[in-house]
This record gives sequence, structure tokens and C-alpha cells, in this order.
Amino acid sequence: MGCAANWGTWQRKRRSLSFQCSPDSPLYEPARLAASAWSTAIGRPVTVTPDGVYPLLISDHPSCWDGVARSRGCSRLTDDPDDGYIAVLTTTEPSDYYGVILHEMGHHLRGLMKPEHLDDPDALMHGQRSTETITPADVRFVCENFDCGASP
Ligand SMILES: [Zn+2]
Repeated sequence: MGCAANWGTWQRKRRSLSFQCSPDSPLYEPARLAASAWSTAIGRPVTVTPDGVYPLLISDHPSCWDGVARSRGCSRLTDDPDDGYIAVLTTTEPSDYYGVILHEMGHHLRGLMKPEHLDDPDALMHGQRSTETITPADVRFVCENFDCGASP
């Protein structure tokens, strides 16, 4: 992807998002399911493939902006549209991979816009996520900064 394409992608609201993960990774299947859930919710392609843009990693010490000790995962986002990743901590239970990735994908869909979380405790994008469901409030939240094809 060239500079002009990068610039255009970020200056206009994005209409698709891709994540990079090998089919050999334990994150692959939960990530595919999470991407599918977001695709359905926002009406745009969210994909997980071996050649996607944002890597999905399992890491001990992710240097993420919200990498606090109690987190099960975090997202790195920068003003470079091709720079960023999702890291799932090594201590995260595999049964929680889906929920963690679903939440972190929401951060990438919303991009660098503040605030980073919703106050609604029932929302996926609440800071202390307890759900694995994308609510209408979550869709409105990410679609403030993403060109969604569906409205809740
Ligand atoms: Zn979060």
C-alpha cells in the first residue's frame, strides 16, 4: 500500500478493517468469530487473514496504552493507519479470547477518538467489560469514527 492510499484511508472514515493472524494461532478461530460479529453489527467487512493489517498477538508485556495489570488484552493504536496491533495476555484463559478480541476490535474500529470506553456497564465497550455481546450503544460508539453500513 502506498503513501497516498494510507493517507486516504485515514483522512476519510474507514469502511473496512483487517487483522493479521495465522490459522495456526489459538487466537485465529475466536478472532474470526469476533470479526464476523462486528461485520454483521456494522455492515462492513472486518476480516482476519494471514495477510491482514493489524497483528493479533499473545504477549507477556504488551506496550499498549491501556495495558494495565488487570487487563486481559490491549490494543495499540497510532496516527499511522497501518501501525497497531491487538495483544492478548499469556495469562488470559482461552475461553476468554473471544470476548477480549471482540472488545479490542471495537477500539480499532473507533480509532483514536476519545473517550475510549462507554459508561454503560452493559456495553461491550465498557472499560470493565463483562459481556460478549455487541449492543446498539457499541455500534453507535464505533460508528462515530467509522463509515458503517448499518445503523442500530
Ligand atoms: Zn478497552
